[in-house]
Amino acid sequence: MAATHNHCPNPECKQHLTKVIGHRVGVDLTHLNSSKMTEAVTGITYKCPHCGTILGCQIDPIAIMGDSVEQTVKGLRKSMNPDAFGESFSK
Ligand SMILES: [Zn+2]
Repeated sequence: MAATHNHCPNPECKQHLTKVIGHRVGVDLTHLNSSKMTEAVTGITYKCPHCGTILGCQIDPIAIMGDSVEQTVKGLRKSMNPDAFGESFSK
């Protein structure tokens, strides 16, 4: 029988899950060969608090938001720096 929702899928556990434990892990995206994904990003694994079975994994949305803000700010700073425009603006 398939595991019901909110129960651990581990047949030796099957505990009712009222919460799961999140752990930050590195997610290596370098094999995707995308120039924008050359660095490892942060992900989260979700584990059963009773037996430790990993129930799922996803990219850490909070870390991604932080990285996006950081990259946006860096981009804005660069675009506001006259040096970044090269000689076309120095005339
Ligand atoms: Zn379990």
